[in-house]
Amino acid sequence: MSSATSVTEPVVFRWHQAEITAIAPVTPHVKSVRLRCGLAEQYRAGQHVDVRLTAEDGYQAQRSYSIASAPDGSGTLELMIEGLPDGEVSGWFSDCAEVGDRVELRGPIGGSFSWDGPDGGPLLLAAGGSGVVPLLAMLRRRAQGWREIPAALIYSTRTRAEAIAVAELERLAATDPGVSLHLAITREAGGRRIDAALVAAALARTGPPGKVFICGSNRFVAAASDLIVAAGVAPGLIRTERFGA
Ligand SMILES: Cc1cc2nc3c(=O)[nH]c(=O)nc-3n(C[C@H](O)[C@H](O)[C@H](O)COP(=O)(O)OP(=O)(O)OC[C@H]3O[C@@H](n4cnc5c(N)ncnc54)[C@H](O)[C@@H]3O)c2cc1C
Repeated sequence: MSSATSVTEPVVFRWHQAEITAIAPVTPHVKSVRLRCGLAEQYRAGQHVDVRLTAEDGYQAQRSYSIASAPDGSGTLELMIEGLPDGEVSGWFSDCAEVGDRVELRGPIGGSFSWDGPDGGPLLLAAGGSGVVPLLAMLRRRAQGWREIPAALIYSTRTRAEAIAVAELERLAATDPGVSLHLAITREAGGRRIDAALVAAALARTGPPGKVFICGSNRFVAAASDLIVAAGVAPGLIRTERFGA
């Protein structure tokens, strides 16, 4: 009798030491944190890592953070962390972390919510708030050698000042005819939410998408998914990731 089974073994990740090599503000509440670690070349755009902090008394806290960078041979990866009021881990990065500090990383995590050039496209991306981070990594990966794949990013934030990497995204959209950016600023004069017209404008630029990635709060992901399906995109093409509330 064969003992072969199709049971999928759980993947056990080990923790890697990581050293902060750079910290820079990205928006008033978001910091870019570059970390040197052994995982730096082993991930796909869209994946995330677990970050573990250990206090002097041994207390530990861990949270998930998407990787913002695309593997670039530097031995480092970039996270973009939004400091939440009283946030245990994000607050540490926001207020305390310094170059040279050490944390632990585990991963990369996220098989289906990831993209590399050979996966093809066109890419339809939709992000709310800090949900843009993994999608930024996909656009950076695309720019490394798959510029022939059309990509549209719908990006919703409360204010323009809160939009992560907006200068980089606007520069990309202005210089690369294959990329379009569709901002939905919700809390400024003349602002708007993601709606059917915005989705239609993005689809008009990409044509029928081959891959759709949506990331943000539960409410944003639900709204964006409904609009994209209503626009005629097959639900099976859509991959989502939720960042909590
Ligand atoms: C797959 C994935 C990827 C992610 N990627 C990113 C990313 O790229 N960037 C990013 O910024 N975030 C990301 N997140 C979110 C991140 O994991 C954390 O959830 C976030 O940073 C908050 O963690 P924290 O420890 O700072 O806050 P926590 O300590 O968990 O607190 C969260 C909120 O609850 C409030 N709170 C805490 N305790 C209490 C209490 N007792 N009573 C009332 N309120 C309380 C805090 O004020 C805070 O606003 C990701 C999440 C997932 C699941």
